[in-house]
Amino acid sequence: MLDNAAIRAQFPILAQTENGHPLVYLDSAATAQKPLRVIEALDRYYREQNANVHRGVYGLSERATDLYEGARGAMGAFLNAATPLEIIFVRGATEGINLVASTLGKLLKPGDEILISAMEHHSNIVPWQFLRDERGIRLRVIPMDERGVLDMDAFRKLLSERTRLVAVTHMSNALGTINPVREIVDAAKAVGALTLIDGAQAVPHMPVDVQALGCDFYVLSGHKMYGPTGIGVLYGRMEVLETLPPYQGGGDMIRSVTFKKTEFNVLPYRFEAGTPHIAGAIGLAEAARWMEAVGRQAIFDYEHELLQYATEQLQAIDGLRLIGTAPEKGGVLSFVIEGAHPHDVATLIDQDGIAVRASHHCAQPVMDFFGVPATVRASLGVYNNREDIDRLVAALNDALEMLR
Ligand code: PMP
Repeated sequence: MLDNAAIRAQFPILAQTENGHPLVYLDSAATAQKPLRVIEALDRYYREQNANVHRGVYGLSERATDLYEGARGAMGAFLNAATPLEIIFVRGATEGINLVASTLGKLLKPGDEILISAMEHHSNIVPWQFLRDERGIRLRVIPMDERGVLDMDAFRKLLSERTRLVAVTHMSNALGTINPVREIVDAAKAVGALTLIDGAQAVPHMPVDVQALGCDFYVLSGHKMYGPTGIGVLYGRMEVLETLPPYQGGGDMIRSVTFKKTEFNVLPYRFEAGTPHIAGAIGLAEAARWMEAVGRQAIFDYEHELLQYATEQLQAIDGLRLIGTAPEKGGVLSFVIEGAHPHDVATLIDQDGIAVRASHHCAQPVMDFFGVPATVRASLGVYNNREDIDRLVAALNDALEMLR
């Protein structure tokens, strides 16, 4: 059993008050709070270990390089990549997807098709629209039902020999739906398509094994998995990464440069131009170790139980409609309440120290599908507990009294 009190004690920010009330942080889908271990790893790096990597021959630089490459190893192990060379450090899920779009995109031809789903975050829509407009590829969308469950029959019908890539989210940030990624990858492979899984939301909440999933690409954002902002991972299967042209040009991604000709570096450096976010990578690896220490299956089980509790409590509120009711769901509670605008609700409960998001959650097509401009979203982290949910419900009831 997971010790929630012991976990909470490791997050200094949770000891803060907000508008005179103890902070209830229910916006982990936007960004998670950071445990002391991660904060201290960042602090230690800048105090004691800072030097540029890969270039220095002096001890400090070698130690910084070892830490940075050690972080790559840790992230490889975290995702069960076949080798750490399949781990490319990027700014986050957004850059990971854009990296694939701009490199793989150069290999695509007019008429090639990319499949995405109806529940994607804008970061897994817009980069493919660029390709549609620039290269004439066709973008097709796997539909979902009113619970927020993907229509797998429709997906299979959309697949064809023209499908070059299937790019879907592992877990939806707006609905909480956990998609049957293994099944999606298998079906895509059967028609020879590549697969990219957006793991920004899934990774913080469950064990992820890229080899078991069989995907070609998997992206994550450090800041959503208790790590720093500005760092993330693009996992790419070696065989596929080797076929891709370079991404950004600059230092570290080259083997040799003359004004006539440049030879590119080996993987993964070929995709990491310039000085990387060294501290970020080290902090991210620390977050991964922290999650492993807590136990990723234990995190999933704990949050699942809390999600069930929160779902029951919220459904008891008069006029509340949950958006996203898939049977396979992670800790996201998106909802609208009759007669109360989501922004007003979120602003009012902030007065009680409750931090939730009210927006389209960078998933406007999802909002369009459900016919709402925005939702209130309470999203769970492993530090949340039933008391947080009770305070959310009490604050919502107070807010509704004022608004109605
Ligand atoms: N995909 C999903 C499902 C997300 O929830 C997010 C962040 N909200 C992203 C991608 C983008 O992540 P980032 O902003 O960290 O690049």
